[in-house]
Order: sequence, then structure tokens, then C-alpha cells
Amino acid sequence: MNSVIPPGSTIGIMGGGQLGRMLSMAAAQLGYRCHILAPEATSPGAEVSADCTVAEYSDAKALAAFADACDVVTYEFENVPVAPLAAIASKVPLRPSPRALEIAQSRIDEKRFVTDLGGRAAPYGFAETADDVETAMAVAGTPAIIKSNRMGYDGKGQARVMPGDDAVARWHEAGGVPAIIEGFVQFDAEFSVILARGTDGDIRFWDSAQNAHVAGILDVSTVPANAAIQAQVPAARALAAKVAEALDYIGVLTLEFFATAEGPVFNEMAPRVHNSGHWTIEGAFTSQFENHIRAICGLPLGETALACHSAQMRNLIGEDAHGWPELLADPANHLHLYGKHRAAPGRKMGHVTRISLTPPGGQA
Ligand code: AMP
Repeated sequence: MNSVIPPGSTIGIMGGGQLGRMLSMAAAQLGYRCHILAPEATSPGAEVSADCTVAEYSDAKALAAFADACDVVTYEFENVPVAPLAAIASKVPLRPSPRALEIAQSRIDEKRFVTDLGGRAAPYGFAETADDVETAMAVAGTPAIIKSNRMGYDGKGQARVMPGDDAVARWHEAGGVPAIIEGFVQFDAEFSVILARGTDGDIRFWDSAQNAHVAGILDVSTVPANAAIQAQVPAARALAAKVAEALDYIGVLTLEFFATAEGPVFNEMAPRVHNSGHWTIEGAFTSQFENHIRAICGLPLGETALACHSAQMRNLIGEDAHGWPELLADPANHLHLYGKHRAAPGRKMGHVTRISLTPPGGQA
């Protein structure tokens, strides 16, 4: 089906965080109205959208009414329960498909899906209960990282097992819930592949950003990535395209990788726009947000090439956002604040992007 959802239509977005906010802003530029569904009474997404439904993601009745008010529905948050989404998918297109969401919600399913398509992941085992920890550790080796199978993000629900540690105690620290236990990857750098796939199957990639994390949270994304990463991007893109095609994916899809001496090692995927793609707002011809909107509405995708020589995006976490006066004092900074009222530690409050039109010391 390749029907176009024209400008003027209403796009439903499940989730009201900063990703929903930036999607809504990109949609508005193309003449769409957005309708956010989120459990919070106020949200960064709802503040910039035409409509908002305050409801739990599992409230099938509210979801059906929400779908009635929308022409297409997408999500910006991958922990939306899948079963109730049937109330939406029976009425309007839900893009990307709930299948992508289902896989990305479970670390074990995601690893199996991607490795079945030829991707390489860190050695991993699965500990459903404390009794499985030893067997899983034997596969993962030490050091290892325990990651809760579901609902983990930004380093939450994770614990490291170092030599001499009691792995079962660490499993309890990671929540004492079903978890993947994976070997520690010796990586040179981290990078992401972000692509958009349209309803006609057209796939476009943005330049891969080199990503640096602090305490499990993305700190800085830089393009172009270093040469070691760039050498691994073609293999990583080929895998990401296979994933997108296998899912008949529509929208923006992200895969995260470690660049190792043996080539790219797949870490995780996100069926949505991604923090490591925020630089595309100023640094690429078309941003990840605009192309997600174009894709889900059946429009042709925009050019994804770099529109600058280099770009760097830095997250503003917690109190960092209070530094906005200094950030704005530098006219080269593109400041994005998400309108969150409370700056809690570890909370993503905004980001700042710098683009350069010339090589260091060079001429345009
Ligand atoms: P994740 O929640 O899986 O994205 O993990 C957050 C961050 O923890 C990653 O971006 C890495 O910096 C680090 N990390 C996760 N898994 C591993 C691993 N198997 N080996 C080494 N570092 C890891």
C-alpha cells in the first residue's frame, strides 16, 4: 500500500518526550497537525502539538478514540505495550509496524533477530532466573554486562560483573528480572546507523555518528566519525538495510554498533528516531525527524547527505541545561531545550549542536 497521507492530515504520536516534540515540530513545517498520546498531563511533545490525549498506553478504549482522531499513528517511545496497539492498527496505518516494536522491546529477541540476519553480537546468554546466571556467565565470559531484557534504556537495569564479583548478586542489582548477560566488548569506538525507509522501499542513510557515552547515557555524537568507524559503516549499513527489509519497515530505524578490530559488533536497535541523530536538524539536508514524517505519510524521502563539513551534538543532562546563557553567548551554538520543568540527574533536558562549514583551518 503506497497511499499518501497529505499535508493537513493529523499524525498521532504515542509518547510525549523530546523525540515526540521534535517530530511534531518537523511535521508542522510540512503542514501536518500532531496529536500526542501520553500518560503525563503535560509533556514536551504535547506542548508543541495541536492535540493531546492523556491516557495510559494500555487503555484500549482511549487508543481507539485516539486512532479515530488521526490519519496515521507512529510512536517515539519503544516501551509502548504491543497488544493494545491492535485497537489502533485496525483503524489507521501504524508505522513502523508493531512487529518492529515487539522485537526491539526484548533485548534477547532483538539480538536473535539481528544475528539471524548475519549480524555479529557480543557473546550472550539469558538468565530468566537466578539459577540461569552461572550458565549465561559461562557463555558471556568475564567481565560481563547484565541488562534487563525489557524496559532498560540509558544504562538503566544494567550491572557489570567484574572478575571476582558474585554474578548472582549483580543479577539482583540489575533488577532480579529476566536479563541478557553479555560479554564485555573491547571496542575502539561506538557508532550508530540511522536510516529512513519509505513506503516504496526507498532506503536512505545519514552519515554515521561516532557516539561517546558517559554513565550509559549518550554524551556527544560527532560526524564525520573517525576513519576506523567509516571503514565499518558499509557492513553495518548492509545489516541495517536487511533488518529494515525483513520488517518491511516504514520510518526511521537506528542500529547501534561497537567498532572493534574484528569489524562492527551489533549492540541494540531502536525502531524510531534516535538521540545520536539530533545533529541532522542542522547538519544534514533533511533531518531524521522530517524524514520519519515523510516516510510514515508515504511522501518521497528527502536527501540525507551532510549539509556541512562536520557536526557535533552534545546532550544537556540534568543541570547542564542551566548553562543556557553561556551556550547562547556563543553564536555558533544551536540550542535545543525540551521544555522539561525539572532537571533531575540523568534526565535529558536539551542538546546543543555545532556545525562547521569548513575543514579545520581550511576554506569552504
Ligand atoms: P545499552 O543500554 O546497551 O545501549 O548500553 C549503554 C552503553 O553501555 C553502550 O553504549 C556502551 O557504551 C556500554 N555497553 C553496553 N554493552 C556493552 C558491552 N557488551 N561491552 C562494552 N560496553 C558496553
